[in-house]
Amino acid sequence: MSVIIKTQKQIDIIREGGKILAKVLAKTAKKAQPGISTFELDKYAHDLIKAEGGIPAFLHYIPEGMDIAFPASICISVNNAIVHGIPSKNEILKAGDIVSLDLGLKHKGLFTDHAVTVAVGVVSKKDKKLIEDTKKALEVGIMAARGGNTVGDIGHAIESFVNKRYGIVRELSGHGVGVKIHEDPYIPNYGKAGKGQKLIPGMIIAIEPMLNLGSDHIISMDDGYTIKTADGKRSAHFEHTLLITEGDAEVLTII
Ligand code: MG
Repeated sequence: MSVIIKTQKQIDIIREGGKILAKVLAKTAKKAQPGISTFELDKYAHDLIKAEGGIPAFLHYIPEGMDIAFPASICISVNNAIVHGIPSKNEILKAGDIVSLDLGLKHKGLFTDHAVTVAVGVVSKKDKKLIEDTKKALEVGIMAARGGNTVGDIGHAIESFVNKRYGIVRELSGHGVGVKIHEDPYIPNYGKAGKGQKLIPGMIIAIEPMLNLGSDHIISMDDGYTIKTADGKRSAHFEHTLLITEGDAEVLTII
């Protein structure tokens, strides 16, 4: 494992990129209304990134161990899809859906990563609570991401907060980010306090809890990308890129 400690110059660029990404994702999230296709949402996010002079980091990206490139700029995962959903002209959002939007940006050569889950129109109480709790799980993880703590402290904080109320996806995790879209260390959303890689000021990481209304079991679709809950129940996902400091982490994917 090789953790990259960013230079001040890299941090400044990533902070700038994070602001752009947060702005683009917030605008895209507002467009997630009944009647729009996930293909149109992807095009909208893509065009906004281009207008900012950035590069969509997921477009044509080939993850380790894969042989097909991701065909879109944004991962859009609806309802029982957890992550890595491929936008499609045939997928039209309707009231009551919950939609996870996960977007990566390359800005001046450096990467940021950010995801939100939004309600389309009015959703059920249970789904609304799932979205709120997943967002809180991310906040709890961020609070644990202090310099001198460890990766295990982040996972432990999230797992304790969730307290078995939801299934925590275990096969997918947060990660270092910046020079590449995925760097060391892996940051699971569960773990033991005090264990794993120490968090060192200057590290930049993405924390991204994925919580399921049902079990934590997942299944992969034939498209090679989309990951869904095995039991068909709904899932939510939130992600921020943040800078490790001596004290509280600085959230970088924020307007
Ligand atoms: Mg990520």
